[in-house]
Order: sequence, then structure tokens, then C-alpha cells
Amino acid sequence: MKAILLKHTADAEKLAGVAAFTSCSPEGSDELMNTKTKEECDKFLKRVLNYGHHSVIEHASFTFSVEGISRACTHQIVRHRIASYTQQSQRYVKFKELGFVMPPSIEKNEEAKKIYLEAMKNASSAYETLLNCGIKAEDARYVYPNASHTNIMITMNARELWHFFSLRCCTRAQWELREIAEKMLAEVKKVAPLLFENAGASCVRLGYCPEGSLGCGRYPTLKQLKEKEAN
Ligand SMILES: Cc1cc2nc3c(=O)[nH]c(=O)nc-3n(C[C@H](O)[C@H](O)[C@H](O)COP(=O)(O)OP(=O)(O)OC[C@H]3O[C@@H](n4cnc5c(N)ncnc54)[C@H](O)[C@@H]3O)c2cc1C
Repeated sequence: MKAILLKHTADAEKLAGVAAFTSCSPEGSDELMNTKTKEECDKFLKRVLNYGHHSVIEHASFTFSVEGISRACTHQIVRHRIASYTQQSQRYVKFKELGFVMPPSIEKNEEAKKIYLEAMKNASSAYETLLNCGIKAEDARYVYPNASHTNIMITMNARELWHFFSLRCCTRAQWELREIAEKMLAEVKKVAPLLFENAGASCVRLGYCPEGSLGCGRYPTLKQLKEKEAN
């Protein structure tokens, strides 16, 4: 699986900083873009982000090519609504063979792996037979499993990415999507380290786990934190 950052807003951090200054300056954004230094923008952006005023980072957007992940995974990704997506079509693309994701839990269990590979082989052969019977790819694909490989292009602004990372870098997220989210986070941190300084699973920012008793135990729950404060 791959998560490649294709494009992003140029000077994303400066732009977000200028947006923050725009709200409280007599000058317009154009002038601020020319007069404010990156250092001034960074300092103010940091302050504004700490206040929780995150709308200014919506001006920066990031586009990824995510490749070789399962349809089970993209089904979860596209639940995030403040984003744009383009996904490889199973109607227009006829597959020569079924590419699929092998979950690690199945990979390491010999018996389960045998059953899984057999199911993939059967799905692949049924698909090919249906195409040979003259069935269109859009109908033959119905025999394809959730494991099927797919490619998706994703564009999100920085605020939505923060939200996406808070849910999907969490150990409660499904393993494949967590791996993708971690890769995407690593990519954006390379080009906008300040914007994503504290991004990641919710607990990283909050200092407690909002998942309560379902959490992984890395951070205390809010209840535990409050009990500790009370004592
Ligand atoms: C661990 C985990 C388990 C999950 N299990 C299930 C499950 O069993 N079944 C299931 O169906 N889904 C499940 N989901 C998906 C989840 O319910 C959300 O659909 C998904 O995470 C998208 O998040 P979102 O709706 O917060 O954010 P986005 O769609 O990314 O939107 C970002 C934010 O914008 C705001 N927003 C967006 N649209 C609206 C709107 N229409 N009205 C008001 N505010 C809006 C909200 O504040 C929202 O948080 C699961 C997610 C996780 C992380």
C-alpha cells in the first residue's frame, strides 16, 4: 500500500498564518501576504491553533494518491465528508487478475491463509468466467470481495485532515486504515510540520483517551483523569 502526497497548497503554513492575521488586521490578505514574515505567521498561527480557532487552516489543502488498498478500507475513508475523492472504477476497468489485500492476522495463520487464498482464487475465476459469458465488468464485479485492490485520490483541507488523523491514527481504527492514516500524517508533516505538529490520534492532543474503556491504555480516560485531579 502507498500514500503519496501529490500536491499541496504552496506556502500552506504562511497562508494559514495570513488568514489568522486577516481576522484582526486593518490590512487585507494580499498586503499581509507581502508584509508578514514566515516567522511572524508561524508564531501567530501557533497561538491561534492553541485557542482552537482552526478555521484558518482550512485554506491549506493536500492531495494524496492512495494505492493498493482494499475496498473495505476505502469504504471507511469516504465516510469522511469534508473531502474530494476519485476512485478507480470497477465498471470501466476490466481486471486481468484479482489484486487483493491479505490481512496480517490471516497471513500468519496457515489454515486461515489457505481458506482465504482459495476464496480469492474462486472470486477471480468467477469474474473471468462471467466476462467470458459476455457479462459487463460492472456486473461481473459483484463477485469481487471487500479485499479487492483499489486506488483512490483524496483531497482534504488541513482541518479535515486533523479530524481524520484524530480518528484514524487511533488504535481503535481498523489496522489497514490506521496504516494509511499514519503514512498520510508522515507525508504532511514533511511539508507542513507546524500545521500538523500536534496532529494524530485524539489522545495525543487531548492528553486523555476519548474512547473510554475501549481505549488502548496508552493514555488515561477522562474519568481516570478527573478522579486523579479530585484526589
Ligand atoms: C473506530 C471507528 C469505528 C467506526 N464504526 C462505525 C460503524 O460501526 N458504523 C458506521 O456506520 N460508521 C462507523 N464509523 C464511521 C464514523 O461513524 C464516521 O462516519 C466517520 O468516522 C466519519 O467521521 P465524521 O462523521 O466525524 O467526520 P467527517 O465526515 O470527516 O466530517 C468532519 C466533521 O464535520 C462535521 N460534519 C460533517 N458532516 C456533518 C453533518 N451532516 N452535520 C453536522 N456536522 C457535520 C462534524 O463535526 C464532523 O465530525 C467508525 C469510525 C471509527 C473511527
